[in-house]
Amino acid sequence: MSASAVSREGHHQPDRAREGALRPEPVSAHDAWATPERRALRELVADFTTREILPDLERWEDEGALPRALHERAGDLGLLELGFPETAGGVGDHLDACLVAEQLILSGGSSGVCAGLFTHGIGVPHIAAAGDEEQIAHFVRPVLAGRAIASLGITEPEAGSDVAAITTRAERDGDDYVVTGAKTFITSGTRADVVTTAVRTGGPGHRGISLLVIETDRPGVSRSRLRKMGWHCSDTAELRFDGVRVPATNLVGAEGTGFRQIMVNFAAERLSMAVQAYATAQRCVDLTIAWVRARQTFGSPLAQRQVVRHQVAEMARETAVARTYVRDVMARWQAGQDVVTDLAMAKNTAVAACDAVVDRAVQLHGGMGYMHGVEVERHYRDARILGIGGGTTEIMNEVVAGRLGLDA
Ligand SMILES: Cc1cc2nc3c(=O)[nH]c(=O)nc-3n(C[C@H](O)[C@H](O)[C@H](O)COP(=O)(O)OP(=O)(O)OC[C@H]3O[C@@H](n4cnc5c(N)ncnc54)[C@H](O)[C@@H]3O)c2cc1C
Repeated sequence: MSASAVSREGHHQPDRAREGALRPEPVSAHDAWATPERRALRELVADFTTREILPDLERWEDEGALPRALHERAGDLGLLELGFPETAGGVGDHLDACLVAEQLILSGGSSGVCAGLFTHGIGVPHIAAAGDEEQIAHFVRPVLAGRAIASLGITEPEAGSDVAAITTRAERDGDDYVVTGAKTFITSGTRADVVTTAVRTGGPGHRGISLLVIETDRPGVSRSRLRKMGWHCSDTAELRFDGVRVPATNLVGAEGTGFRQIMVNFAAERLSMAVQAYATAQRCVDLTIAWVRARQTFGSPLAQRQVVRHQVAEMARETAVARTYVRDVMARWQAGQDVVTDLAMAKNTAVAACDAVVDRAVQLHGGMGYMHGVEVERHYRDARILGIGGGTTEIMNEVVAGRLGLDA
């Protein structure tokens, strides 16, 4: 296939990969992913992705951010409220939210789009769960409607994996907190209207951490855009708080409960990232199958070379294992079982599958796989963050090792 296979917008969309975007779900024990309602949701997301995202995705990648109008459209379609409690204006469960991300990627979107468009999935669940009615009305409902953007601010220049080491300080002063410190690598941070921020209200360690919602238009808040390897359409910021006065009514839950709230929500975030990892892998399998069937070398299609066929078979196998495992853990997590160990292992399994698959997808595309604007090239760059964000691969292994009794 020649460079003409790359369309004017730069998207590489072989017909067969497009067909694959809405493939029938394999009939299995995992029926929860294929109920009539969820099939309808898939079709809605596939249509939304095709009409509202794909025509402009390359431009947003170049511009470094998604437009607010996309949030409004997603809000109007009811895609942002999925997985939130009804008391906060939500509907459905976390599987619905993950299915939306999965289908968006299978339809030619990306984990970068998911990061930017669904940042609320990490930004406001704490408020929905522990906030009072006024906080929910003020901070959660507008975000679920797509009329406001929320971020989560935990990571600092000197504290990432070690959340308990954060130093951003919130000192009580009358009816306000006065916040001083910095956050970094904050997804949607250049556009966010509100940031659910981990602050230190007490002494050292995890018990001194609270969650405070900080509106970004408050005096003393400044932010700068960070450039990065992938997720180009998802803006990332460093935030600085220089004596920012925030009403004490913005505190989410009680003082000192921030760390626990963060850890509870990590489970949903990790599941979501695991789903994005296997979905990215599946999309790259689909794109690679279309490519190797069409691309001719030495007089025959790549798909006829045994070494190529076996690589594609391995890509499909690794993806299937990841999908099956992640969905199984999701089902057990939703049933209320303790899946801490499996969740960490499932994220690592999905990330490893994704890393291996995107690498082989680029290799099998040859020079075309290295070209900017070709879809597998974007997935290759985007995939690299999945083993870093939401708890690194090493931290996941630490969780597993601890549960295996190696701490003693
Ligand atoms: C694109 C992007 C978006 C992000 N979005 C957000 C966001 O919206 N909000 C937010 O708060 N944060 C966000 N982050 C931050 C992300 O969560 C952190 O980068 C991540 O948790 C790792 O922290 P760190 O970068 O400080 O690395 P470090 O904690 O410094 O770790 C560096 C390396 O050491 C390893 N390591 C650390 N501790 C151990 C240990 N005990 N044993 C073995 N190995 C160890 C790590 O696995 C890693 O390989 C984002 C990051 C990126 C790149």
